[in-house]
Amino acid sequence: MAVIDFDLACVDCGAGLRGRALADACPACASAIARTIDPSLVDMGRLTVAADLTCRGCGYNLRTLALSAACPECSAPVVDSVRPDELRLANPTWLKTVNRGLALMLAALFAFAAIPVLMFVMNALSRGFDPFTALVAAAIAFAGWVALCFGVFGVTSRDPSQSTSPRTAAAVARLLVLSPLVAFAGIMITRSMAPRPWIGVALGPIVTLGPALAIGAGLVCLRPVARRAQRPGLARLTTVLIALMASTAALGIGAAVLSSIMSAQMSTAIAARAAAAAASQPAAVVFPMPNRLISTAVALSGCGTAILFVGCYIIALVAFFKYHALLQTAMSSSPSQRQSSVATASE
Ligand SMILES: [Zn+2]
Ligand SMILES: [Zn+2]
Repeated sequence: MAVIDFDLACVDCGAGLRGRALADACPACASAIARTIDPSLVDMGRLTVAADLTCRGCGYNLRTLALSAACPECSAPVVDSVRPDELRLANPTWLKTVNRGLALMLAALFAFAAIPVLMFVMNALSRGFDPFTALVAAAIAFAGWVALCFGVFGVTSRDPSQSTSPRTAAAVARLLVLSPLVAFAGIMITRSMAPRPWIGVALGPIVTLGPALAIGAGLVCLRPVARRAQRPGLARLTTVLIALMASTAALGIGAAVLSSIMSAQMSTAIAARAAAAAASQPAAVVFPMPNRLISTAVALSGCGTAILFVGCYIIALVAFFKYHALLQTAMSSSPSQRQSSVATASE
């Protein structure tokens, strides 16, 4: 068996594999070296490219070239084009599933944006929030949520060729996107028992927060896709977006807690004023105004959440469109020989 006489980093752990045989395992993580060099594209005895394979850098056909060589057109290492972690060499069925998931997530984002637009238009027509508008808004929200569920499940599907795909983030994303079901079930069950308004207050935010956080967890699963397509810029944008979404959620929760403190203070003040009026005492003595610091914090955190939310939405749209384009390119530049071998292997 031929010995690897060029620099090659393990696909799973990044350890150097120079001097090893192709049939060996990685000395650091014990994964097969055949996972780092795609065996279906390579003559294992001579370590040359044995299939029609376009160069990752320029599209030149690398067939018959040695893995240790550089591309004659753009001098990118030939071996970089036979690594199975490269996105265009990924399982075509998986690429299609992720791409369809992305399209559904984009559809959901547009559906969610349509709701405030509908409200604005109805307000402008001075119809206000009538039952018909409410019904249409609820139908759009439900359709968007169903699309988001299928989208998140598609985007977080496991790549059969990768052992290091983020499975925890995938499981979290799927649970979060389904969390409104739990909230709805809770509201329905407790409604038939006794009127407990606090249950609606507690479960209501799950309906919006769960799917929003599911998009963030889905982005954690998408980030390796950008890396595998040699798009570090998009991977960085994804990291920024995830951080921004987490900050928005934290600030939003903070704003909700602060405003509930403020409303509790308000009702105390109103009760105190009523008591003072009943006892015909001077109101100024017993009328505590809501804390000015808290009311300022409520206003600031509410505004901050709204601004961050719009920012997240716009960046998410841009990122999703970029991933969509990237997967489209990967699918169209997938080597045809590889496609037929994968199709038969996955039967
Ligand atoms: Zn390794
Ligand atoms: Zn090239």
